[in-house]
Amino acid sequence: MNWTDNYRKAFVLSYDDGVYQDIPLVEMLNQYGLKCTFHLNSGLMDPPAVWETNGARIERMPPDGLPDLYRGHEIASHTLHHCDLTQLTDGELFREVIEDRQALQKLFGQEIRGFSYPYGHTDKGVKFLLDMCGIDYARGVQSTHSFDPPGDLLEISPTCRHREEEIFDLAREFIALQTDSPQIFLLWGHSYEFHIQQGWKRFERFCDLIAGHGDIFYGTMGEIYNERR
Ligand SMILES: [Zn+2]
Repeated sequence: MNWTDNYRKAFVLSYDDGVYQDIPLVEMLNQYGLKCTFHLNSGLMDPPAVWETNGARIERMPPDGLPDLYRGHEIASHTLHHCDLTQLTDGELFREVIEDRQALQKLFGQEIRGFSYPYGHTDKGVKFLLDMCGIDYARGVQSTHSFDPPGDLLEISPTCRHREEEIFDLAREFIALQTDSPQIFLLWGHSYEFHIQQGWKRFERFCDLIAGHGDIFYGTMGEIYNERR
């Protein structure tokens, strides 16, 4: 069954990098009945990569326990090592995508069909290779502030990033929207941004606003962008 059989509006979250702040994020999403696609780098989990952003220490999670944590949500690829794919040889590119996909499939026991581009970087060659590697849909980082479905599933642009000022106005616009054609609100980010910017309370207010509407389908990217290419 397709979500458009019963709904005209869908809301989905898409979060990158698999860091410890995903734990409280998943807890909050589960509480509100919201679904997320989590994009992970299987080559940076063991040992877990650590870096600093704005003076805060950000740490990725090791693989143990991740299938339990993300249960009910979708896992998607983000490459093995978080590379800028446009800078790699074809061989390196193939390895970054196919090996990440295979490792995540093994760890989570689910088919991996989704992807997000590290740094949002892509080009024609990258898209061609993703297609060959069995990836059906891929997200960039450029906000559209629009709810129109993407023309190209390998170049999905999000509606907005959670830290943008407009998220509350966009949510209110989406809730009020009356439409005959499918409309999608895709929100993306990194959960460590909530930690750095003290944004948890603000995000909880957003979840409270967007959740629980009978005419909105709350699904993962896999459930929403589900036409096979
Ligand atoms: Zn990333």
